[in-house]
Amino acid sequence: MLLSVEEAQKIILGSVHPLNRIARVPLTQAYNHILAVDAHADTDVPPFTNSSMDGYAVLSRDVSNASDSSPVTLAIDGVIRAGHPQTEPVVPGHCYKIMTGAAVPDTADAVVPTEWTKPGADAGHVQILRPVMPNAHIRPRGEDMVQGQIVISQGSLITPPVLGMLATIGLQPVPIVQAPRVAILATGDELRAPDEPLPLGSIRNSNSYALYGAIVEAGGEPVLYPPVADDPKAINALFQRAAEECDLLVSSGGVSVGDFDFVKSVIEASGHLTLWRVNVKPGKPLAFGDVRGVPIIGLPGNPVSALVTFELFVRPTIRVMLGDSHWPRPCMRLPLAEDYTAVEDRRQYVRCRLLVEAQHLVLKPHLNQGSAVQSSWQDVDALMIVPEHTGPHRAGEELDTLLLSLSHIA
Ligand code: AMP
Ligand code: MG
Repeated sequence: MLLSVEEAQKIILGSVHPLNRIARVPLTQAYNHILAVDAHADTDVPPFTNSSMDGYAVLSRDVSNASDSSPVTLAIDGVIRAGHPQTEPVVPGHCYKIMTGAAVPDTADAVVPTEWTKPGADAGHVQILRPVMPNAHIRPRGEDMVQGQIVISQGSLITPPVLGMLATIGLQPVPIVQAPRVAILATGDELRAPDEPLPLGSIRNSNSYALYGAIVEAGGEPVLYPPVADDPKAINALFQRAAEECDLLVSSGGVSVGDFDFVKSVIEASGHLTLWRVNVKPGKPLAFGDVRGVPIIGLPGNPVSALVTFELFVRPTIRVMLGDSHWPRPCMRLPLAEDYTAVEDRRQYVRCRLLVEAQHLVLKPHLNQGSAVQSSWQDVDALMIVPEHTGPHRAGEELDTLLLSLSHIA
């Protein structure tokens, strides 16, 4: 019996731990990292009561009877600009002209927007055309955040609005969880660099670059090693070196039952092989173990198998190392836009596009689900899960689906 995806995830994630290494980086480098501490507001936000409109700071009771047909005239005592607070109070019959974001003077309890006024008899007066409720168009001190309050909790992803909040509370530099260093270890005699000529029988090493992007996206720091030949000594030397330099090793290729597949035996010789082979299509020959205590995930060589198993096993491992327990992707039941007829004896993860039909999301499986067909991944936002021995599945039938992104919805 092959291990299920869930059993394999449990074994892998049960043996890795959050790294808990903190780095302090400028705000400009903190995007997409994980906040390592609870972030407290160092002041009230806003730090002073201010106007939310361009208008006039008034005593609301002065204008309670104002209307278009009988405006109330107020004397303007001055202009308050943002960044230039005014300390004098507002007295009855008077007001200050005030700009958005400027501090509202003591005693003024409302702002009349410019749109509700018209000019007075001279520049020193204004006519108010509508009453305002007390506190209207005023943003009170501390409305958004209160000094000392935790405004972003430890473990939060640093998104654009979080960057803005961190700047607002003056958290610079930002303590972030350091990304795990993830070694990219491609194996295969046939591999050539993308800029090398291709002699007959060779292919370009694409896995290393696809995995590079996937590791960055998952929050890891990729460390790219040159591909290694199908030679146990050379593979062992590379794995040993990477285990000294990285927190997680990710290999591709050499993990199946071919005569020149040595990844498994090298792991066994230099550490432990904890699991091999999972009930998943594509990606069955997945291996997991450690090299001198450093976890290693051996991905299959076929490019699509490598990315599917990255998604199922490596990405969650990176998230757990980052201290993020919310690693699972959203899983939804979505209907097929057309028949999907392949029945397999392993659980399939089917590359699908998401389409919007009659305002509902539907799944459009890529026509060629071959594990070497890289072009089948290009526009993919979702992996539809087809349980083993089920099908054919008909258009309209709903299946569990992992949502990877929403970038290509058409
Ligand atoms: P293997 O698991 O080593 O037998 O590899 C399975 C298939 O994946 C073979 O067709 C390999 O040529 C191909 N493959 C292995 N590594 C890579 C790589 N780094 N980039 C692209 N294809 C690869
Ligand atoms: Mg190989």
